[in-house]
Amino acid sequence: MGLADELGAAGADVVAVAAGEALASYSTDAYAATLAAAIGAHEPYAVLVPSTPNGRDLAARVAARLELGLTGDIVGLEVDGDGHLVQLKPAFGGNVVAPIRSRTLPNMATVRPGIFEALEPDPSRSPRTLDLDVAAQDPPRVRTLEMRPAPDGDAAALDAAWAVVCVGMGVGGPAHIAELDGLRDALEAQYACTRDVADAGWMPKQLQVGLTGRSIAPALYVGVGVRGDFNHTVGIKRAGTVVVVNNNRRATFFKQADIGVVADWHDFVPALVRELRSAMGHP
Ligand SMILES: Cc1cc2nc3c(=O)[nH]c(=O)nc-3n(C[C@H](O)[C@H](O)[C@H](O)COP(=O)(O)OP(=O)(O)OC[C@H]3O[C@@H](n4cnc5c(N)ncnc54)[C@H](O)[C@@H]3O)c2cc1C
Repeated sequence: MGLADELGAAGADVVAVAAGEALASYSTDAYAATLAAAIGAHEPYAVLVPSTPNGRDLAARVAARLELGLTGDIVGLEVDGDGHLVQLKPAFGGNVVAPIRSRTLPNMATVRPGIFEALEPDPSRSPRTLDLDVAAQDPPRVRTLEMRPAPDGDAAALDAAWAVVCVGMGVGGPAHIAELDGLRDALEAQYACTRDVADAGWMPKQLQVGLTGRSIAPALYVGVGVRGDFNHTVGIKRAGTVVVVNNNRRATFFKQADIGVVADWHDFVPALVRELRSAMGHP
């Protein structure tokens, strides 16, 4: 299945195709010129760009070029009674979610990957395709000298995981993380972490969940030593059952957890692993 068909199956009625040597790999100049020209020619209602490193770079460049407002990193969208697109963006350190309406058209925003649930693909849909003009490019001002893959830290496995064990600062240090391997293995889970854990260098940044990290949707999330700050929990809005292990009964996370365990994880996790293993017939 080609990309256009894949997008059609996912719900697109029209797929605009821009093909050309200059677009073979991402470059700010070529992508921004093509997208800006397409917006000018087709005057869409809204332009939504994923909030990935390339997407943020592209959206900011195009918005500046077309003198459009841009809402960065939104976590929700609504259409109000007047047909305005309301863009929901966490503000004041995540304490409020601010509704934002653009003064310029098209509405333009970057959207956190993973924040919306994809439709069930319908392969019987076939989209109309539209060929975009790929404008002649000025010689690029930026040249890629070398491409090096970033260390992945199993981020792809985290995105697809049915269960996730999330490591918070309460785990106590990088040396203790291996003590959670038994829980991870018993649940066939993947590891994630909070920003403070990633910033401390205990785990790779790619495994950070939350406002400035990934949004994940596992059926089971187990937070160990995680406080449950909004900036973290916004990344697990689509998680199924949320289990929280924290030794502070006043931890914010307990307000949101489906199952809250007030305990020192050193005591609780080994006991839980023993129970899980015996329930699964592994003594
Ligand atoms: C703009 C902005 C964006 C941010 N983006 C993100 C983001 O994307 N993701 C993210 O995670 N954070 C993000 N943060 C940081 C966030 O606000 C919190 O500071 C962070 O999530 C806290 O991490 P933590 O819960 O691991 O650590 P802490 O706040 O230190 O909490 C540790 C918890 O562990 C508990 N604990 C301690 N010892 C034990 C024990 N032995 N057993 C059980 N529990 C124990 C404590 O009671 C405490 O609740 C962002 C902040 C800002 C300002």
